[in-house]
Amino acid sequence: MYEFKYTKIETIDSAEEMLSGEEECILLAGGMTLLPTMKQRLAQPSRLLDLGGLDKLKGIEVTGSVVSIKAMTTHADVAASEEVVATIPALAELAGLIGDPQVRNRGTIGGSVANADPAADYPAAVVALDGVVVTNHRSVVAEEFFIDMFETALEGNEIITSVTFKVPTRAAYAKFPNPASRYAVVGVFIAEYDGQYRVAVTGAGGSVFRLQAVEEALSANASLDALREVLKQNPVSDDELNEDIHASAEYRAHLVAVMTERAFQAM
Ligand SMILES: Cc1cc2nc3c(=O)[nH]c(=O)nc-3n(C[C@H](O)[C@H](O)[C@H](O)COP(=O)(O)OP(=O)(O)OC[C@H]3O[C@@H](n4cnc5c(N)ncnc54)[C@H](O)[C@@H]3O)c2cc1C
Repeated sequence: MYEFKYTKIETIDSAEEMLSGEEECILLAGGMTLLPTMKQRLAQPSRLLDLGGLDKLKGIEVTGSVVSIKAMTTHADVAASEEVVATIPALAELAGLIGDPQVRNRGTIGGSVANADPAADYPAAVVALDGVVVTNHRSVVAEEFFIDMFETALEGNEIITSVTFKVPTRAAYAKFPNPASRYAVVGVFIAEYDGQYRVAVTGAGGSVFRLQAVEEALSANASLDALREVLKQNPVSDDELNEDIHASAEYRAHLVAVMTERAFQAM
């Protein structure tokens, strides 16, 4: 690990000021991605700004049909939240499937969406549940937030303060996890809003994407037969899917269909 400075942040404004004033200054949330990257000398920040002391950035609120999860809320807290279990049980379930207990107790929703790992679970939920990423400056709808692999719409001095989700009529998440890390080789989140469906896929491509043909088919006829037919007629092309030691692009394309069917059956 290279040498770096460490500052425990007391206000969001002071974090923003330091981010703007010092090059290579970077936010630290749960450290589950950042610290291993630094240990491998793949990142060399001059200073870490630890958000861990900001209670303002922790907690979950439900207002009407919107669930708002503050950025420093851990995956374990989301998984155990009575509010989330009562409103969007599939989201609590997704959080409980992330990594292992150590990762869930440190990793945060803000860190996860900021990192935009192509195999992360949350992006599928943020997109399927019509989510919004709220920063200290603006609100960005999910599909404009996730741009590509490890690339988001965040600007240099922007800090995620919360992520909001629209409560669906029903929803479910199915993932094929990497057996070692539990990251999604492929994960599919389906949400229904009064008969209209949103289907988002993580793990398969560079960034989360929606299955529009499947959404239209389910919105017209929410049956397993209709789903199987549309998946057969519109197979996901493996041309732009991820290919690595864990799975070929062809296998990931196959998993998209299998996980979509499993998620639908779990609704
Ligand atoms: C062994 C292991 C297994 C894992 N398995 C899974 C899995 O199955 N599914 C899954 O989805 N994830 C998995 N993860 C990732 C983990 O869940 C964390 O969500 C992820 O590492 C980032 O969250 P963090 O809070 O640790 O962020 P950090 O590592 O602290 O930060 C990550 C990045 O986000 C930036 N950042 C952090 N907070 C903010 C903010 N509020 N505003 C703007 N930028 C911010 C940081 O500057 C940094 O660039 C795994 C990680 C490990 C180590």
